[in-house]
Amino acid sequence: MKHKLCVIGYGGMGGWHVERAQKSDVVQLVGIYDIKEERSKLAESRNIKAYESLEAVLADKEIDLVTIAIPNDVHEEVAVACMKAGKNVICEKPVTLDVESLKRMIAASEKYGVKFSVHQNRRWDVDYLAMREIFKTNALGEVFNIESRIHGSRGIPSDWRGIKKYGGGMLYDWGIHLIDQILMLYCDTNLKYVYCEFTNITNDEVDDGFKLTLHFENGARAYIEVGTYNFIAMPRFYIQGKKGTGIITDWREKCKIVECTAWHESDVIPVETAAGLTKTMAPRDEITTKTYELDKPVSDVHEYYRNFCDAIEGKTEQLVTHPQMLRTLSVIEAAFTSVEKNSTVEFCDEFVK
Ligand code: NAD
Repeated sequence: MKHKLCVIGYGGMGGWHVERAQKSDVVQLVGIYDIKEERSKLAESRNIKAYESLEAVLADKEIDLVTIAIPNDVHEEVAVACMKAGKNVICEKPVTLDVESLKRMIAASEKYGVKFSVHQNRRWDVDYLAMREIFKTNALGEVFNIESRIHGSRGIPSDWRGIKKYGGGMLYDWGIHLIDQILMLYCDTNLKYVYCEFTNITNDEVDDGFKLTLHFENGARAYIEVGTYNFIAMPRFYIQGKKGTGIITDWREKCKIVECTAWHESDVIPVETAAGLTKTMAPRDEITTKTYELDKPVSDVHEYYRNFCDAIEGKTEQLVTHPQMLRTLSVIEAAFTSVEKNSTVEFCDEFVK
């Protein structure tokens, strides 16, 4: 049985969900609802039913699943209304704007006995999956530093994302994905400290980029950076372990690993710089290192919907859990506090596994 889906918000991401749903093996698209008439007309021109109001969606008993893809500030009210009407809810990221709001949403899902999760689709990105593989196989030994960057050069989009009251800003927009990925890699390690700085190059109202450092209890550090004014992008991932270093230059590329095969070496050839010779910083050759590439992981983002539908049917647990959602949003909150205080914030990791 396919679950009957209504997509609320037929904008950029709503359109993506609709397209996926039309090819899905687990959901059947019943229709969309958007507050803008032109979006409803567009849907109808594509032979997609457009509901005339949210109430009409709530009243349609056929619909058992809704996906919410509307600006961030209205996620909670629409999600709770849907849950109250007995619909299972997939909410677009960042799910909502703060932990208290998320707790109310979780409480509603428990009260009305429906499933509720956030669309953390970037858990299926192959660059992240390569990092997960490194952690799982211990390919680099103990990882002590991981750097995750997304660099664009077109500024923050000029829609609601640039406006604070709608939940704009890059921390909510991309940060939530990148933080979720790092927390999944450190799912059972306590996060101790958070430090964040915002950039405001093309937008003064919200962050158009940020630099976030996470310090874990085991001494590992994660650095997350989002930039929207970078005309040369830095690598997507840079990862250091006790056995070597890994890099993904661009998210379409494979992960390159350089493993250290001989630590002690007497015959290093010094490099001459203008100021003198250096052995310490001399590049290594292939006698003391092994270089290889990881195969690109295989990924199908529709696994998200398959898992959620299985969870509705009680066959499995949902992959993106409530404690994970709370943990990620708590880090976002700590990052805002850090920016406000211009200092490192001690983090109480309530939701670590
Ligand atoms: P968008 O502006 O392109 O589309 C939003 C749509 O929602 C618009 O058509 C608007 O008319 C409609 N809308 C606004 N308020 C509404 C309401 N109360 N009821 C019904 N419709 C309403 O924005 P977008 O880029 O599609 O982003 C929507 C959501 O999806 C955001 O939460 C965003 O963070 C998320 N998103 C997620 C991803 C991802 O990869 N997971 C990517 C992009 C956006």
